[in-house]
Amino acid sequence: MNLSRLAQSLGQSATLKLNELANNLKAEGKPVVHLGGGEPEERIPAGAAEESRRMIDSGFVRYTPTSGTAPLKKEIAAYTERYYGVKPGPRNIVVGSGAKQAIYNFLVAALDPGDQVIYPVPYWVSYPEMVKLAGGVPVPVKPAEGSLLVTVKELEARITSRTRAIMLNSPGNPSGQVYPEDFIRELVALCEERGIYLLMDDIYNRLVFDGLKAPSAFAYAKKPLNESPIVSINGVSKTFSMTGYRIGWSVASEALTQAMVKIQAQVSSCPSALSQAAAAGALRDGGGFVETLRSGLERKRDVMVEELSKLKKVKLAKPQGTFYSFPDFSAYEKDSKKLSALLLEKAMVVAVPGVEFGLDGHLRLSYCGAEKDIIEGVSRIRKILD
Ligand code: PMP
Ligand code: GLU
Repeated sequence: MNLSRLAQSLGQSATLKLNELANNLKAEGKPVVHLGGGEPEERIPAGAAEESRRMIDSGFVRYTPTSGTAPLKKEIAAYTERYYGVKPGPRNIVVGSGAKQAIYNFLVAALDPGDQVIYPVPYWVSYPEMVKLAGGVPVPVKPAEGSLLVTVKELEARITSRTRAIMLNSPGNPSGQVYPEDFIRELVALCEERGIYLLMDDIYNRLVFDGLKAPSAFAYAKKPLNESPIVSINGVSKTFSMTGYRIGWSVASEALTQAMVKIQAQVSSCPSALSQAAAAGALRDGGGFVETLRSGLERKRDVMVEELSKLKKVKLAKPQGTFYSFPDFSAYEKDSKKLSALLLEKAMVVAVPGVEFGLDGHLRLSYCGAEKDIIEGVSRIRKILD
């Protein structure tokens, strides 16, 4: 039987594949150190557990409105107002099954076949494949040699009559870098002027270090939300350590949002009622939770930076947020897939090859796991390479 050309053209998710591999090796009792992970190790917030339990005990777990329950959308509106300074109405929000579905809803709502989507390198592994799934053409833009950040001019130079959207993830997976205020201001102005959607993937926006804040695109918007090209994506997966609940959302103009709701209704009806109750519980009582998670990650970032500094030829841009570092190993090995395979075989360390994020010669090393794993993992890498 045939598979569609689309199915055949799609790459696997390298991050999910390696995550599974690491967990399988651990389950077999292999002494693997997993530096390829993409989720915090913390337990979920108490409020999330209480609300899921309450719903199970009620005995009723039903379909919800497609765009999300009223209580969760109320929490999301308050959260958006607190952290972005803009208050969305219920018709500006769609809750999906993870930030991933929110991004996909957007792409399907915005793209005609052959429309182009621009995003900087290094990018999150799923961007190119999601754009292709929605019929679009991915346009990755490489930064200048030695930098992990592009300029607005470099993005602008790639705009054509087919460009429908620019996607930005800041702080970024895999680099951990935060795009500065001036960049965001110029980018918002560019997208408003040219009528190009600006998808801000803000999934790590509160996991930033050293007193930094990730600038919000809405802060520089001249247009009101219902006329705005800005689409903000967020969720509870990373900031509230709730990856398994699969809750993310978008905040955007009413017209775009309602198109996304129509799409989601035909694809998945609504996100899980149980997960939505839990997400509302997390947002209601999560202030302290996020700060504890954030400061713990900052400490682990310091450990990762310290350990990597012991490798003689590694170049590292210190991560300013997320729980990823993206060191340049090209002085040891330029082929990141080869290096990742070597480290798995000889040192039982899982690391994601940089080429999966569009930049060979790098590895993505996560610091969301235990401190002892960071120390052990990097020291095993050092023994092999130095
Ligand atoms: N965007 C980025 C940059 C991510 O790293 C992830 C991680 N999975 C997502 C979106 C999707 O998040 P979720 O688990 O909520 O679908
Ligand atoms: N976002 C995480 C990562 O990049 C989780 C896995 C995924 O969804 O790709 O590792």
